[in-house]
Amino acid sequence: MSKTAIITGGSRGIGNAMSRKLGEMGYNVVINYVSDTSKVISEDLAKDIEEKYGVDTLVVRADVSQYEDCEALVKAATDKFGEEIDVLVNNAGITNNSNFLDITKEKYTAVINTNLMSLLHMCHLTLPYMVDHDSCIINTSSIGGLIGVVNQADYCAAKSGVLGLTRALALEFAGRKVRVNAIAPGMIMSDMLKGVNQEELNALAAGIPLGKIGDVSDISGCMEYIINAPYVTGQTISPNGGFVMP
Ligand code: NDP
Repeated sequence: MSKTAIITGGSRGIGNAMSRKLGEMGYNVVINYVSDTSKVISEDLAKDIEEKYGVDTLVVRADVSQYEDCEALVKAATDKFGEEIDVLVNNAGITNNSNFLDITKEKYTAVINTNLMSLLHMCHLTLPYMVDHDSCIINTSSIGGLIGVVNQADYCAAKSGVLGLTRALALEFAGRKVRVNAIAPGMIMSDMLKGVNQEELNALAAGIPLGKIGDVSDISGCMEYIINAPYVTGQTISPNGGFVMP
């Protein structure tokens, strides 16, 4: 019997690796993206996953910071794959990297809406299709959800909120066969770090006990572990090279 996974922000970076891993694990994958420039990237990714792993895919453009877009995303998924969703990966995220006194209300609201509100929207809309059969939600937080980071007040607020949401939903839905966990990545090489030059990257890597910036596969591998771990719920796993040891 085929199983279905939805991933928000499945086009690039960590989400791209997760989309591929979900296909490799045998899920039909609903890949969400938002930017014009990611349409072709997402369609090529979907084609590649279908060819490599023999699963079906659906590419859906939706701005997950908007409830109505999330509704359309979940409807498209259930219209195509039926009313049982097995995995939801809430991965979409943005960052401002701005001094708090200079940041605008619009900018910090966008970070909260994209990195936190989208998870409430997606969980609220998808859980009716996840309850009472073994299913699993994975929320992408960050080490910024575990510790303070300079110039990331909005991001840290959102990513801490993700952990509270994860624990509360894990408790509320444990009896309905839905596990809910979070991944809190450390520094991972993706477009999110594209503003950082090589010298700065070397300095960042030197401050990490394992001596390197992480790879997207470190996070997709963590996702695979969680999906295959039936006794794990309400947890935060932080692949971060030892940078943060909560
Ligand atoms: P990228 O910038 O490489 O990718 C971000 C992804 O999120 C893209 O797929 C993008 O879609 C999608 N996205 C952004 N806004 C929206 C939106 N409103 N609606 C739908 N999709 C959206 O980032 P990463 O891969 O690095 O980050 C993935 C997640 O991991 C984020 O939640 C991030 O906060 C978290 N993280 C990353 C770390 C890192 O060091 N890289 C560290 C800790 C956490 P599109 O392609 O269409 O723009």
